[in-house]
Amino acid sequence: MNELTERTWAEVRLDNLVHNMGAIRASLPAGTKFLGVVKADAYGHGAVPAARALEANGADYLAVACLAEALELRAAGITLPILILGVTPAADVPLLLEHRITQTLADEATAAAYSAAACAAGGTLRVHIKTDTGMSRLGFLCDEAHRDRSTAAIARACALPGLEAEGIFMHFAVSDEPGAEAEDYTRRQFARFTAVLDALAAQGLRFAIRHCAATGGTLFYPEFALDMVRPGILLYGYGDPQRKLGLKPGMALLSRIAAVKHYDAGTKISYGGTFTTGRPTRMGVIPVGYADGLHRCLSNKLTVWTKDGFAPQRGRICMDMCMIDLTDLPGVDVGDTVEVFGPHADLEALAEKAGTISYELLCAVSPRVPRIYL
Ligand SMILES: *Cc1c(COP(=O)(O)O)cnc(C)c1O
Repeated sequence: MNELTERTWAEVRLDNLVHNMGAIRASLPAGTKFLGVVKADAYGHGAVPAARALEANGADYLAVACLAEALELRAAGITLPILILGVTPAADVPLLLEHRITQTLADEATAAAYSAAACAAGGTLRVHIKTDTGMSRLGFLCDEAHRDRSTAAIARACALPGLEAEGIFMHFAVSDEPGAEAEDYTRRQFARFTAVLDALAAQGLRFAIRHCAATGGTLFYPEFALDMVRPGILLYGYGDPQRKLGLKPGMALLSRIAAVKHYDAGTKISYGGTFTTGRPTRMGVIPVGYADGLHRCLSNKLTVWTKDGFAPQRGRICMDMCMIDLTDLPGVDVGDTVEVFGPHADLEALAEKAGTISYELLCAVSPRVPRIYL
């Protein structure tokens, strides 16, 4: 035990991320570029260590959500191309130029503002055009009704001085959902994208990097990989279907039993008294709470893994602690490690109990929780 593992900590296996990148690559057509999505602190795994591991092992590109995340990587010495997936104010174009950051370009008015700012700064801003083929989020609207108008707008944007349109992309809305309806929708989105690419090519506009597949697309539609894939959660090794590729989870959330108490039957546990012991009970206190990322909505629902098996969590989860029932696990005691999620306690199952997805629980692991890199 050291001071970082006295309370609650996250073990991050960068070798698993590298393994996952290799396994994903092997499932795709040779030559497909690999963009690692490291937004939101690499889904909680730590953006800088994750980016370093990806860069050292042959990733082609990185993506983040915003300028601050891109600058964090540059400050740490990451030299791979970085794509910002969100909107950056035109006033920050000089920073994008200085740090050689690629910016998503999602509408014509912003294109004009970026062009003016890049010209004023005497630089050329590298952009990837974002098309909206049915996600209904950012991007030039490229459904059938708007295709011609948007194709013309994209062509005008690409012709502006101070901009270099290296790439063009789209995002799938339901590529990770089962069923024929989701498959139809995904195929329609891809068809809309290729129709726009064809219309632009007919005007002589071609892009070096065309990309559309995040996790769902990469896993279920490898034929849509085009020039580059853009997986996030898949890279970190979560999700049931991910087992198909033999991927390995990147993170485990661990805590250490801080105290063990004995209660009579009929004792109310924690805020609100939502759990009452039904028998004489041996209760452990673990120093992990919602401020660490263990959502309060999991109160009385989750189990944590101990060296002798699963222990049910009892009563409301507090900000910094919660209680686990050790009555049936007499060998588990103060100082023992428990696993909230990891190799034994499945993150997907925990997410389902919380009414959410693995992404949200990973992002929730708070800065207070030290990351230990193995
Ligand atoms: C977050 C994001 C990704 C990664 O999504 P996953 O489902 O984690 O693979 C890819 N592309 C865009 C545009 C995103 O916003």
